[in-house]
Amino acid sequence: MGERQPVTGVAFEFATAGRILFGAGRAAELPSVAAGLGSRVLVCTGANPARHAGLVAALGAAGVFAVAGEPTVELARAGAAAAREHGADVIVAIGGGSVIDTGKAVAVLLGNGGDPLDYLEVIGSGQKITRPAVPCVAVPTTAGTGAEVTANAVLASPGDRVKASLRSPLMIPRVALVDPELTHSCPAPVTAASGLDALTQCLEPFVSVRATPLTDGLAREGLRRAASGLRAAYADGTDAAARADMAVCSLLGGLALANAKLGAVHGLAGVIGGTADVPHGIACAAVLPAVAEANVRALRARPDGGAGLDRYTEAARLLTGRPGASVEDGLAWIRETLARLAVPGLRAFGLQPDQADDIAAGAARSSSMQGNPVALSHDDLRAILLRSI
Ligand SMILES: [Zn+2]
Repeated sequence: MGERQPVTGVAFEFATAGRILFGAGRAAELPSVAAGLGSRVLVCTGANPARHAGLVAALGAAGVFAVAGEPTVELARAGAAAAREHGADVIVAIGGGSVIDTGKAVAVLLGNGGDPLDYLEVIGSGQKITRPAVPCVAVPTTAGTGAEVTANAVLASPGDRVKASLRSPLMIPRVALVDPELTHSCPAPVTAASGLDALTQCLEPFVSVRATPLTDGLAREGLRRAASGLRAAYADGTDAAARADMAVCSLLGGLALANAKLGAVHGLAGVIGGTADVPHGIACAAVLPAVAEANVRALRARPDGGAGLDRYTEAARLLTGRPGASVEDGLAWIRETLARLAVPGLRAFGLQPDQADDIAAGAARSSSMQGNPVALSHDDLRAILLRSI
């Protein structure tokens, strides 16, 4: 335990938002932050813009673009058209991960021109994004995706039944303004799904083959915050300390994943989300225990698996708060948390065991899979799904 690779020979890059502002009540600073970046603001917000009417009014925005549901190629295209029509030179995204991803997509399309399909991975032509995005200020209202500091926007393409990303360090928002008070009104099921995503986004970079000394520190602190905040924020949404813990956890997860990649949980969850209407955090939670078990089993079978196993042991100790906890204790803590947060199984969303082959095949091709600590075979992925459905 605790043994670390020597730093000699380690090389890494770390990219993040130009500014990160964090604190209860700091959403009030949004108008002055936006005014420092441009003069014509397009606000991207959720399906019910009235929810943040005060903030939007204070911005004196040139236009408001409502994002209903998860972003699609069509929605990003429409958002960019709206921004051009309003002559926007700043994008402010106030909402959950879907809204922030839409804002990032609009900002990068304004800066680079063209259509989402010109740049999309997998289903588009995957052209490189070469020019800066228009300045974007991301203001999360859920604690989960960390999208305020990540370098991609996930867009669905209903015709292709897959999700794909626009991705470039140039897409990281210029400013992340994180006010945990904005999450107090999140309903319990959203708190559960987004909080489990945040936890997973700290765990996967921590065990990733792309982990760096910088992301390690962030992921460790994020796991500590999930341990203290996740169950408490679900039990009482007005618990300000728990909400702040989860807002920090989400931010740290975003910082870590943008610089160390994810793993098989996200590889599978991305395809599950394209196959059935499952909230992203629930898809992650459903496969998390079986992925961790498969990774640990594979690491134990390898002569050089010790460092990876140490990571899982350390995560178990951070989550349980017990210095002597084992990997199995950590898995038990996760399972107990899923039960307390009333997380439904994948069958509740209509997924069937006979879909496991297709989902496993799609997941193997995903970019998240590159961070997984071991290479999982098609049969491994299929078995994980069969245990999780
Ligand atoms: Zn996620």
